[in-house]
Amino acid sequence: MATNGSNGATAPSINGKAYPITEHKYDVVVVGAGGAGLRAVVGCSQAGLRTACITKVFPTRSHTVAAQGGVAASLGNMGEDDWRWHMYDTVKGSDWLGDQDAIEYMVRNAPAAVYELEHWGVPFSRTEDGKIYQRPFGGMTTHFGKGIAQRTCAAADRTGHAMLHTMYGAALKHRAEFFVEYFALDLIMEGGACRGVIALKLDDGTLHAFRSHKTVLATGGYGRAYFSATSAHTCTGDGNAMVLRAGLALQDMEFVQFHPTGIYGSGCLITEGSRGEGGYLVNAAGERFMERYAPSAKDLASRDVVSRSMTIEIREGRGVGKNKDHIYLHLDHLDPKVLAERLPGISESAMIFAGVDVTKEPIPVIPTVHYNMGGIPTNFHGEVLTKAGGNPDQVVPGLLAVGEAACVSVHGANRLGSNSLIDLVVFGRAAGARCAETIDKRGHDDLPGDAYDAALGRLDTLRHASGSTPTAKLRLEMQKVMQSNCAVFRTGEVLAEGKELIHQVWQTSADLKVTDRSLIWNSDLIETLEFDNLIAQAVVTMEAAANRTESRGAHAREDFPDRDDANWMKHTLLWADPVKKSVTIDYRPVHTYTLSNDVEYIEPKKRVY
Ligand SMILES: Cc1cc2nc3c(=O)[nH]c(=O)nc-3n(C[C@H](O)[C@H](O)[C@H](O)COP(=O)(O)OP(=O)(O)OC[C@H]3O[C@@H](n4cnc5c(N)ncnc54)[C@H](O)[C@@H]3O)c2cc1C
Repeated sequence: MATNGSNGATAPSINGKAYPITEHKYDVVVVGAGGAGLRAVVGCSQAGLRTACITKVFPTRSHTVAAQGGVAASLGNMGEDDWRWHMYDTVKGSDWLGDQDAIEYMVRNAPAAVYELEHWGVPFSRTEDGKIYQRPFGGMTTHFGKGIAQRTCAAADRTGHAMLHTMYGAALKHRAEFFVEYFALDLIMEGGACRGVIALKLDDGTLHAFRSHKTVLATGGYGRAYFSATSAHTCTGDGNAMVLRAGLALQDMEFVQFHPTGIYGSGCLITEGSRGEGGYLVNAAGERFMERYAPSAKDLASRDVVSRSMTIEIREGRGVGKNKDHIYLHLDHLDPKVLAERLPGISESAMIFAGVDVTKEPIPVIPTVHYNMGGIPTNFHGEVLTKAGGNPDQVVPGLLAVGEAACVSVHGANRLGSNSLIDLVVFGRAAGARCAETIDKRGHDDLPGDAYDAALGRLDTLRHASGSTPTAKLRLEMQKVMQSNCAVFRTGEVLAEGKELIHQVWQTSADLKVTDRSLIWNSDLIETLEFDNLIAQAVVTMEAAANRTESRGAHAREDFPDRDDANWMKHTLLWADPVKKSVTIDYRPVHTYTLSNDVEYIEPKKRVY
């Protein structure tokens, strides 16, 4: 057994010696069984491709299961609608950082993707005449911003749950093979092309190489780089980190969406509806501070304004609690009958996650990370892009990415509610179609003898890490730095401090201590692998935020309050070198053209809040 200690050194070739590997051969390997992964799996297996799906949690436990509100498509069931209006809203929502060819692709294919889900059996809520029910959602309009659209298709408040369960059934029907509770470690790369993925089977500690013609990353977001996130603990951006380790870039990582009211500690979402019913926020002095920041809209100002105001209160020492690091949301003045009828879910969540009886006490809340606009750059086929030889849209052979892990980019600088679920199914479907189009089913070439060494070396190093800092301690430090220095409220000074602090955490990861050396159900090891993934993304997020000297979408710089199209209407690309612990930044142009002649490029307009 190789015992490399914590100094990062690895034996010349440990492949097949310290860690015997079982090889599997497939046409396509999809990593991730959330909405995006499952849709890609169905597409590939429907097309007759031998398809494996690797997932670290049981498919229906993926974070997609938590999505409530719904999935956007211009069906026009509840009033007039048009995909051009959906396109306009999405471009505007993206604050002109979205690629308009990809946006056109998404909104035009959205209705077909939703009807397909309906035919597979998603139990959508219905109108009186039996059509799919659609509700209004923030930023979704008719006639290019003039009216309110009812575009968001919903299965009660359990849309993600319904979609995920239905798609899992569809994937099984098409005989896709699932490898459940397999933890993907790294991509197998050869000469710049992806040849598959290496995974650890969590329940017996065996290692598996999944050889494939195409590898589809559908590993979700990395919300857990922050202290407070509405996403599941499993949202550690493992695919994004694998891409960084493969020497490829991530895109637009500075754009992180916050929701004002996640429960302090757990991050569980408290819906905006609670403030709609009359709830209000207070600081340590019991002051309703939103009256100062937004005198007319007050507690119902837009998400970014409320989140930023809360952060200022905390930074200026007026937060509540022992560490003065959160805010109270009062619902206790409301009629208990109203709470029971209109906010039963919230009341239950507050009791479970904060031990609070909402009829008697305030809920401790904090602006909470909700969605990552940034991720793995792709075109609208889902193919991963790299900037090589002067071409910013060069395709990486063998590698695709879909869902929250990807940056297509349809959400640009800010995602509209209900546009993620449609992104999952439209681009999951596109990726499946692309695999079917481009795979010519030859056998698998032999790999060089050291093809697995880098991945196994990293596993072995972290498994035997014998420094003095437990993973949980370093993870908490990272999360606190991200929460206070790279949140909704950003200035050059705060970000410069953040860069220093987050790089310190990255450096300290050489001193990690893992106590359990086994490979079977070793949560210490898995959390360390996940931390190692998160810290690389935290560093590039901080670097990207410090680098972008303008305000756009979710990236609000107090010191650069205006959007600067002349200098910054471009995607950020970031590379991270895990050995040198350094970051490189470059750019890709935004696609300022549409997919077809059916619609014109939408020119940038001034931002109005
Ligand atoms: C509370 C909440 C509510 C939301 N509500 C809505 C809404 O109403 N409408 C909307 O449009 N959007 C909503 N969103 C956003 C949306 O739900 C997510 O962006 C989307 O579900 C992400 O789907 P995904 O398929 O990309 O990833 P996920 O659903 O996160 O799935 C990731 C998959 O990757 C696998 N995986 C990850 N790492 C590894 C690894 N190392 N090895 C093996 N497998 C791995 C996991 O097992 C999992 O199967 C909400 C998000 C949250 C958090």
